[in-house]
Amino acid sequence: MPKTFEVRIEGVVQGVGFRPFVYRLAQKYGLNGFVRNNGEGVLMHISGEDEVLRVFMESLSDQVPERARLDYIQQQEIKGSYQDFQIIESLEGKRQFAAIPPDLSLCLDCQNELKDPKNRRYQYPFINCVNCGPRYTILKKLPYDRPHTSMDVFEMCETCKQEYGNPADRRYHAQPISCPECGPRLSVYRNDGTLLVEGDDSLQHVARLIKQGYIVAIKGMGGFQLVCDARWQKVVRKLREKKRRPKKPFAVMLPIMQDVDKCGAVDEQERDVLMSSERPIVLVKKRYPHRLDKFMVACDEVAPDVGKMGFFLPYTPIHVLLMERLKIPIIATSANISEEPIITSREELQQKLSSVYDYVLDYDREIVHPCDDSVAEVVGDQVRFLRKARGYAPDWIELDFEMETPTLAVGAHLKNTVAFGYGKRALISPHIGDLGTLETEQRFLETVNIFQEVFGMEPKRVVCDLHSGYVSTRYAEQSGLEVIQVQHHRAHIFSLMAEQKINQPILGIAWDGTGLGDDGTIWGGEFFIGDWSGLERKTHIKPFRLLGGDKAVKEPWRLAVALLFDRYGQAWPEMVPERLCSLDSVMLETLFQMHQSGTSSPFCSSIGRWFDAVAVLLGLVWERAYEGEAGLMLEALVDPGESGWYDYEKTAEGIDLSLMLDSLMQEGDPSKAASRFINTLAQVILDIAQEEKLSVGLSGGVFQNRTLSERVLALLHHAKIPVYFHERVPCNDGGIALGQLACLKHFE
Ligand code: ZN
Ligand code: ZN
Ligand code: FE
Repeated sequence: MPKTFEVRIEGVVQGVGFRPFVYRLAQKYGLNGFVRNNGEGVLMHISGEDEVLRVFMESLSDQVPERARLDYIQQQEIKGSYQDFQIIESLEGKRQFAAIPPDLSLCLDCQNELKDPKNRRYQYPFINCVNCGPRYTILKKLPYDRPHTSMDVFEMCETCKQEYGNPADRRYHAQPISCPECGPRLSVYRNDGTLLVEGDDSLQHVARLIKQGYIVAIKGMGGFQLVCDARWQKVVRKLREKKRRPKKPFAVMLPIMQDVDKCGAVDEQERDVLMSSERPIVLVKKRYPHRLDKFMVACDEVAPDVGKMGFFLPYTPIHVLLMERLKIPIIATSANISEEPIITSREELQQKLSSVYDYVLDYDREIVHPCDDSVAEVVGDQVRFLRKARGYAPDWIELDFEMETPTLAVGAHLKNTVAFGYGKRALISPHIGDLGTLETEQRFLETVNIFQEVFGMEPKRVVCDLHSGYVSTRYAEQSGLEVIQVQHHRAHIFSLMAEQKINQPILGIAWDGTGLGDDGTIWGGEFFIGDWSGLERKTHIKPFRLLGGDKAVKEPWRLAVALLFDRYGQAWPEMVPERLCSLDSVMLETLFQMHQSGTSSPFCSSIGRWFDAVAVLLGLVWERAYEGEAGLMLEALVDPGESGWYDYEKTAEGIDLSLMLDSLMQEGDPSKAASRFINTLAQVILDIAQEEKLSVGLSGGVFQNRTLSERVLALLHHAKIPVYFHERVPCNDGGIALGQLACLKHFE
């Protein structure tokens, strides 16, 4: 007696070839019914003999397509029967919470076709299939179907139509399907807007321009990139000047994996991530730290004074075809000025950046949602994310509780992301950026809108930071919805607890650059104890003064001076090291008065600021060029063989690190000093962890420092103390939105 079941599946099941997979499976087992996308994921009716249905359901979970993920399957017997199996068009219905598929890099099958002169898509820059191509960046609304994407303006030719409609074809229901006959086209413009070349010759033309030393803006998957030859010091410097990015490292795209091996000391795991279908930028140790290597990346200009570099491989057919023609390393960096959001249209590009680039490679498919490149690094033996965007985002995290009230979390101020929670789900936006400019603020609002309008999410309350000055906090306050505020560093720890599903009390260590504390001072070296019912601030780094407030962040020499005042009091004049002597003695005296009185010098307990100060004392930086610079430079100096550390003291005012200043300044060898500084921080964590006898959770941007993180992990493992670290969201402020959302668990 045949039975019929209704099956609802949620997870990543749209835009990943899931329906054709179900179709083929149903054919294989001779089952009838249908499958279709709906607002939550996929719905199917499946009819057949009991035993066969069981095997079918097993295969469904066991053999899911590479890119699909099944989070939730519900099945229920219903009445009715079917004569055949069909894939039916999506119903719009109530759009709720279907996973939005991220963009995928060119797959192997398509790459082979791209190179096959007999194939009709030979050298076609927009080749894609059900396993690769744009998704989120072209999606106008759910469900994910062609008329809901920016491919809607391209009418399929007869051949494409056939492929699209044939369940046996690789391109069955591949929404962005197209071919040279019916798809988008490339074009090259000068920076004044003059059209130079159109169609097939564009790539060859652009390759020539790049080799001649021009800066070319190239339309990638989620926005324009500024591209130039990475071998020419002069060209890279020109890009730096024009982009107003004096020192921050650039990522380098290389033609093939073997080229990455020439430039970076790549291990097995890093190779896997580089070649994964998400194709993020991966930070890798430089192979030739301080000279031009054979492959001739101008390291000193591309990533000056740091020990690692970001590499990535071509991920769209445009990049693949371009790199085949170039065969050289290129810089490929988001098209923007400084930290503004990535630009997605040629019009905006010309308005804002025409003085930065010389030429532009454009195409006529609209990017609906901007998406930056993702950044990852292998730490310990795990892949960690520094930025989650293209390939990963929007990201979908399962909560281990039911969120009854649809909630929006608006994140932090820097590296902002937003998150939306409902039911057992948290949906996290791609990286938005630092909310310090009008442009990023605009991008923030757009992203919130995308979530609300395009994906049909209606928040009933908003979670934000304690800091009333943040754009995100102001948004929350003006939303008219119920507002819940969560302290920054607790949000860090909650984000870790949410993604790692931690349900017992832990010692949560949140170390970062800045965040407003309960007491109105700036925190950033925090030790919490607690669980979902609350995190109590157990101890912290002993606060010191940010001399001049925010100025001290940009001018870290002020931090070094403040620490010397702290440590030596009235005796400071004898203790000022040579490299601080360039400071005028009258000014130093004024600063000392400021320090004593506290005038515009709030207290902070931030480890990030300690990194800055130590980098100054070791003569590495004076003024900061970019966030995280001090950490990267200290890391570059570290001697892995150095195991010593400096003294510190636990006091009533917190953990006093300033004892180490004596030794630090006397140390002749900066490498030893940098190593011992980082070792000291790891030792502090070990000590507190041993006292508290709890599992340890590490969060906050400071743990992006690979040397510190690996050291801490090694010490804790050796002491047999369980330790949790981020795998799904960044440990930096990109993870805050998830933490803000998840901490509501206690109230549900
Ligand atoms: Zn493909
Ligand atoms: Zn076609
Ligand atoms: Fe933070």
